[in-house]
Amino acid sequence: MILTSDLCYSPVIAPAPAPNYSVTSGFILLPRPNHKNAKPKDHNTITYSWRIGNIFGVPTDLHWTFLLLPLAIGYFTWVPGMGIAWAAAIKWTIIALLLFFFVLVHELGHALAARNRGVVAERIILFPLGGGAYLPDRPDRAWEEVFIYAAGPLANIGLAVIAYAALLFRPDGELLIAFYLRLSGNLVVFPGWPDQVLGLTLAVNLLLAIGNLLPAYPLDGGRILRAVLRGPVGVRPATVVVTGLGVLIGAALVWLGYVLRDPLLGIGAVFIIVMSALEYRNGWQRRRLAARGIGNILRPVAAEKPLYLTDKVGKARTLFNGSGWPVLPVRNQWNEQVGFLESDTLNEEAKKDTAPLLPYCEAEFVTASPDEDLLTVTERIVNANVYGATVYGRRGRVLGYVFTEDVMTLLKRRI
Ligand SMILES: [Zn+2]
Repeated sequence: MILTSDLCYSPVIAPAPAPNYSVTSGFILLPRPNHKNAKPKDHNTITYSWRIGNIFGVPTDLHWTFLLLPLAIGYFTWVPGMGIAWAAAIKWTIIALLLFFFVLVHELGHALAARNRGVVAERIILFPLGGGAYLPDRPDRAWEEVFIYAAGPLANIGLAVIAYAALLFRPDGELLIAFYLRLSGNLVVFPGWPDQVLGLTLAVNLLLAIGNLLPAYPLDGGRILRAVLRGPVGVRPATVVVTGLGVLIGAALVWLGYVLRDPLLGIGAVFIIVMSALEYRNGWQRRRLAARGIGNILRPVAAEKPLYLTDKVGKARTLFNGSGWPVLPVRNQWNEQVGFLESDTLNEEAKKDTAPLLPYCEAEFVTASPDEDLLTVTERIVNANVYGATVYGRRGRVLGYVFTEDVMTLLKRRI
């Protein structure tokens, strides 16, 4: 199973920071195992968010950067000596809420299409100017993947069509449509607020749909193109094509942002370039791992200093210092491995040397056989969210261990 995540951005309206659960950038973002005593330190500033509810059964979170929105509106509508221009502040608040709603509809499009194809959408996260639907699995068939990625932009097109139809029933409807689609600068009358909301709904949703359908990674269009190409040309060439297009289209949008004096467009374009570069590197790293056997980074069992469940924290510290291992296997009284202990966990959480070791152990680990390639084993470790794998040879004999730290060290080496 390959982890994929979907980030939906409106490249023209706005960019959004990448949440760190984005496993698209691969093994650089290895998750930390949650052992029994895990503290809420995993909620760092990037992932901190509030659950606002289950919308159509999809857990939906609001990112903490929403707190910045009132501040930003206050800052931009502040008139020196006069205070906040309230009419402008209310207008921008309504625009922000509308954008929030359009992005939510886009993400729900992805999430509900995924559920329809048997893929659980783990959650939706909403940023002030974008959002993401987290899909841990990929559907089996390419057309299902295309359907899931297309469903977001299609949901926006649905909203645009509704707004378009509603505007046609308004007085001066056709003039309003032309004005909001920037086809004509002429407006006979100043539109009232219902017409303004309809006009914005039409224009912004079209922009969201078209922007996200650009064939550039990490946009929906790029992911659709990759799904279509994967069958005929293979995984790696498909990724090279969409990330290459990401850099080219991103560069063109940087230029457009400069010409239009639109800093948000410029930032969004840089984001597309960075994400494409990361995904290209991820693919390159996967290829390097696939070409290497476990033997490259196997820590042989002969070098292990045995640590037992009944040991105290003090002994573990001594063994970590003596061995230099980042993780040590923990054994029971029958000398069978029952888990792993991480040096960092001990340093951060264990106070007294006389305390028992048990609460700091991670009981889960995965196994590997010596003839497997490093990519297969690393993916197993990442999917199980554990520190490493124990490698078994013939007749169940333990040969040694593969740790995520060693995989990352191997990737950093320029070979
Ligand atoms: Zn999307």
